[in-house]
Amino acid sequence: MASQEIERLAGALARLPGLGPRSARRAVLWLIKRRESALPALLEALATVQEALVECRTCGNVDTTDPCAICADPRRDPRSLCVVEDVADLWALDRAHLFTGRYHVLGGRLSALEGVRPEDLTIGKLLDRVEQGGIDEIVLAMNATLEGQTTAHYLAERLEAFPVRITQLAHGLPVGGELDYLDEGTLAQALRARRPVG
Ligand SMILES: [Zn+2]
Repeated sequence: MASQEIERLAGALARLPGLGPRSARRAVLWLIKRRESALPALLEALATVQEALVECRTCGNVDTTDPCAICADPRRDPRSLCVVEDVADLWALDRAHLFTGRYHVLGGRLSALEGVRPEDLTIGKLLDRVEQGGIDEIVLAMNATLEGQTTAHYLAERLEAFPVRITQLAHGLPVGGELDYLDEGTLAQALRARRPVG
């Protein structure tokens, strides 16, 4: 019989994406066995996440500084902007080291089913950024899901009014593919072969 404390931790872990109740209990057991070796580092990392991480007010990335390291990096091309659904997608793309511009995180994708409307995403902020000028190309890097593609089409329409080139990741991307799960080679290929929206 697990104690209340153990059940509470397992319950909290089970809410993490990708962890069900069963793997959460295994994780708890793993942690208990390594209370001396692994737990202090984990606790410290968690405390840092709680205390030090902020959302970049420019792009929506999560970092220890605002603006984030990417927005603040002068070597990044300010004329090229890559729009992604979530921070996880930004990280995935940035791991591929091919995109040299900056990013914009939408905070999700349009979904009639889940009731996600344009005003629930950072689309207004994106249009503001484009309106300020200095951006030549916008890469729509939505996931290859129905909702991701609906979002890309909507954005392409809203961006039509601006003098920018709008491109989209090439669909060597598997249908239903979420960027976060793709290997870096596939992502790099999709980015390299990006094509105009239309
Ligand atoms: Zn940023």
